[in-house]
Amino acid sequence: AKEAGRSTYRFYTAEQTRISRERFELESGLRRAIERKELQLYYQPQANCRGSNLTGVEALVRWLHPERGLIPPDRFIPLAEDIGLIGALGDWVLNEACRQAREWELAGAPLRVAVNLSAQQVSQGQLFETVSTALTRSGVSPGLLELEITEGHVLKRVEQCIEVLHRVKSLGVTLAIDDFGIGYSSLSYLKRLPVDRLKIDRSFVEGLPGDADDDAIVATILAMAQNLGLEVIAEGVETAEQLAHLAATHCQEYQGYLLGRPMPANELERWRDAHSA
Ligand code: C2E
Ligand code: CA
Ligand code: CA
Ligand code: CA
Repeated sequence: AKEAGRSTYRFYTAEQTRISRERFELESGLRRAIERKELQLYYQPQANCRGSNLTGVEALVRWLHPERGLIPPDRFIPLAEDIGLIGALGDWVLNEACRQAREWELAGAPLRVAVNLSAQQVSQGQLFETVSTALTRSGVSPGLLELEITEGHVLKRVEQCIEVLHRVKSLGVTLAIDDFGIGYSSLSYLKRLPVDRLKIDRSFVEGLPGDADDDAIVATILAMAQNLGLEVIAEGVETAEQLAHLAATHCQEYQGYLLGRPMPANELERWRDAHSA
């Protein structure tokens, strides 16, 4: 038993060493990634549940690492938050998304572009200036920019968030609550937030139709949204059966692999041409 314990310990430290080395490499790489233009935005289409016409896109960041290839955001966003880089990264995402949205607008094919905000971006007190600068610099119509925040962000500092979000909303952008349904006490603060849209979390869409709990949760969210005058978009829609159920229960919009994967801007343009033809 003693020996097994020892080898487990050795294995553990080797694993820890590997993880911390990888983390160190990603950290120093991430610091340079923005300057070296290694970050790229992918765009995932969003459409009406009925008719499936394109209503907008969600911008999702990727890191094109010179050696490691495409790194998904779950691997480096938390890291960026830990090492104080999320401000710079978030600024880049916002500016790039606005630049792209303006390009589409000027091309005569305006498209709503949703951008994810991290908790720190919402709570750090520069959000108004950051958004305002990105809008001015790009010249994009503010109505084409949507900001996505998660329930968790808001709940941590409700009063401060409500104030900041009202100011940001006054710029003319729209606001969506991401991953809706997985937090707590969603109801009490919703009335006080200047929210336009709820995004039903993928975990509730997964069991549609058929899973009694998921059916009930989605129906409840839709009923509540209707009472509050909010739009609803379901995320993670992968099957035609899920879409049919959402359309039948009057969910307005959906997003997911069934419609299209996140893709680079030029691919999205081709996708759009193919789908509107
Ligand atoms: P999220 O905001 O909930 O984004 C949706 C995620 O679900 C995306 O993963 C998307 O590719 C994936 N997805 C979309 N449709 C489907 C589907 O039908 N099935 C399945 N299984 N997955 C689907 P992605 O791009 O890897 O992003 C992961 C998370 O990273 C995002 O979750 C968001 O929280 C964060 N993130 C992405 N870009 C940014 C950014 O620019 N800033 C910040 N702060 N966070 C970001
Ligand atoms: Ca999102
Ligand atoms: Ca989400
Ligand atoms: Ca999520």
